[in-house]
Amino acid sequence: MELEEKKTLVLGAGKSGVASAKFLSERGATVTLHDKNDVESWPEAARSLKKTHRVELISNEIPSRLMDQTDLVVISPGVPTRTIPASYVDRKGEVIGEVELAYRFLKGRVVGITGSNGKTTTTKLIGELLKDADIATQVGGNIGTPLLSLAETSNDDSWTVVELSSFQLETIKQFHPNVAICLNVTPNHLDRYDSFLDYAAAKHRIFMNQEPGDLAVLNADDVVTAAWAEGLRAAVTYFSIKKELDEGLFLRGRELVSRANGKEKVLTTRDEIFLRGLHNVENALAALAAGLACGALPESMRETLRNFKGVEHRIEFVAEIEGIRFYNDSKATSVDATAKALEALSDGGGKTVLILGGRGKNAPYAPLIDPIESSVRALVLIGEDAGNIESQLDGHAEIVRAESMRDAVLKSFESATSGDAVLLAPACSSFDMFRNFEERGNEFKYEVCNLMSGVKGEVGKGV
Ligand code: ADP
Repeated sequence: MELEEKKTLVLGAGKSGVASAKFLSERGATVTLHDKNDVESWPEAARSLKKTHRVELISNEIPSRLMDQTDLVVISPGVPTRTIPASYVDRKGEVIGEVELAYRFLKGRVVGITGSNGKTTTTKLIGELLKDADIATQVGGNIGTPLLSLAETSNDDSWTVVELSSFQLETIKQFHPNVAICLNVTPNHLDRYDSFLDYAAAKHRIFMNQEPGDLAVLNADDVVTAAWAEGLRAAVTYFSIKKELDEGLFLRGRELVSRANGKEKVLTTRDEIFLRGLHNVENALAALAAGLACGALPESMRETLRNFKGVEHRIEFVAEIEGIRFYNDSKATSVDATAKALEALSDGGGKTVLILGGRGKNAPYAPLIDPIESSVRALVLIGEDAGNIESQLDGHAEIVRAESMRDAVLKSFESATSGDAVLLAPACSSFDMFRNFEERGNEFKYEVCNLMSGVKGEVGKGV
């Protein structure tokens, strides 16, 4: 793709937009960066492009004379396509996303991962499976490292493992993963899509440029993806945690099995996987399917799964204090994710003390009643929605109120007994008390570490 002298407009002054503007400018294009917010409020990384890369910065309305001269629009995943002025759309001006732009400069082969849940975990896991198997690998996309920043370091022998959101898939054209995975499709982002079908169609685009030599990995247990094999040009491998498959990867008892051409191999067992929960078995099966396709040896992958600790803030093991294990699932910002985390910890034998609350999302908490009754010892409530949660869950577990994260950690520790887990899985967003879920999770971990040193100090004094 020739960028020299091209007149380009980048929409969205976030991470992806900054990466695109830099990339385009370094390749000789004239770049204007636009965001609906005032330039003064943009992150420094975006504002500094004016000086460092001669990028013009604009906000609010996009001038029509600018559109008349623009040859290429690069749109960030967070920006709706309706932001592009109609005049440009009418004259069929080119619109692509950062992923597509990067793809045109990327060398080697690609594994793409999408789905409503589990993308980041599976992407990171595949990266580790390949690296540990001595395959040249780099990891990026929605996981946090813009794909554009990997274009230069890729080579003909490397694999690039890319996490893809439905927003990013909306604006691909030639992007063509050699291995493409869709983990699941459940209702999500319905504020941006007209219907669930539209959302599923965006995910389906991950397969649209695949060819017969490629591989599509699909979840046989998911009603949407189970129906997708027909019509795909790539070969299909299914995975399942619910049933044995004639061909594919599946869970049988505690064994993760691969079956191909009538031959079976046990790749690992649930007990050997560090990550907790059946949803992570799904992620592991999908990752193993990709690993096999990329040439990783089963023994190497078994070892990686033993050591893979997952992604920060997703049922992340923090510490064990007096037989009580602390887990940080600050990313569980929905009732559904909290239910999953409770289920994941319930195979540990003990009970769970659950820290819940934050800014509510107007979703009922009733789906938590069953998992709470079967595995929760106490609920420790924090944040704005604590009163509402208490009124909906009262009578189903002991309820304790906490004023701060420190208070929540202390009260959880007091409520738990040896063999229990303390789980931060708030089912709410964090914005009432924290900047984001990462800050909430970090504060939880900090307080757990404080508690640990306090407890150790007491033990020390006693001795
Ligand atoms: P994503 O990147 O798609 O948001 P993550 O890997 O960050 O996914 O996991 C986010 C949360 O989604 C986890 O804490 C867990 O509760 C849930 N989750 C992870 N994997 C799956 C899966 N395969 N199916 C359903 N839920 C999952």
